[in-house]
Amino acid sequence: MIIATTIAEVRTQVAEWRRQGVTVGLVPTMGYLHEGHLSLLLSGGAQCDRTVASVFVNPTQFGPNEDFDAYPRDFERDCALLERTGCAMVFHPEAEELYPDGFCTYVENDSDMARVLCGRTRPIHFRGVCTVVSKLLHIVTPDKAFFGQKDAQQLAIIRRMVRDLSMDVEIVGCPIVREPDGLAKSSRNIYLNPQERQAALCLSKAVTLGQKLVTEGQRDAKTILSAMLALIDAEPLAQIEYVSAVDGNTLAPIQRLSGTVLVAMAVYIGKTRLIDNFSWEE
Ligand code: AMP
Repeated sequence: MIIATTIAEVRTQVAEWRRQGVTVGLVPTMGYLHEGHLSLLLSGGAQCDRTVASVFVNPTQFGPNEDFDAYPRDFERDCALLERTGCAMVFHPEAEELYPDGFCTYVENDSDMARVLCGRTRPIHFRGVCTVVSKLLHIVTPDKAFFGQKDAQQLAIIRRMVRDLSMDVEIVGCPIVREPDGLAKSSRNIYLNPQERQAALCLSKAVTLGQKLVTEGQRDAKTILSAMLALIDAEPLAQIEYVSAVDGNTLAPIQRLSGTVLVAMAVYIGKTRLIDNFSWEE
């Protein structure tokens, strides 16, 4: 596996692959990899001849009071895991490589898509995500880029960005990978102490409950959300930020479930902010 730290190295290697006529997949990550990330790498390997992973804790998507400094990092371990998936190249730049002195050009979704759900409490988050993802797409120029449904709002906003800016890449959404007890895998799960780890199950239990109600035929968003909220509320360590039902493409709030739907939540367990969701399509 090639370890690249500069944009020039990535471009040289991708140009060589292009000469060979092979297809290229990209999996952007912030590292501290787990099986959720690795599932994206495996999809990349199945659908593209060469897969590139980026490992970069992107400063522009963290707010001033968020966990940028504390965010877990272990690049050696990440490389060992990536190597096992057959990843062809990992791009691991310093912040200065992607954000040179005087950097002032951002990509922003200027709509409610980026202001609802997580955007309410993380106002600059999706601007940071769109900016870094568009840079990575320009640098790697992949045929396909792979993102997890775990970050469903991010996926919808990236799909919109690619459409709005006419980017020549296919965005592939991949299913949420969970721990055996249901907790969605996340690099932030290591912040949880044993008691909080147990309490965190209220998110996936609420997802399961919501899915069950929908499967039983319930289409009233309020009824579904109330049941999910009550389940999470019963957990003393949980502090709900939001549980919402929105249109899966526009992220506009909905009263009744029809078409493509996203039911998403953000919940604090102690000091750790966790997200989970399910999508549903009629
Ligand atoms: P992150 O390193 O948290 O920025 O995540 C990098 C990519 O991995 C994003 O596309 C995430 O949606 C995806 N991802 C993270 N956790 C999971 C998971 N549990 N299942 C599937 N994809 C995930």
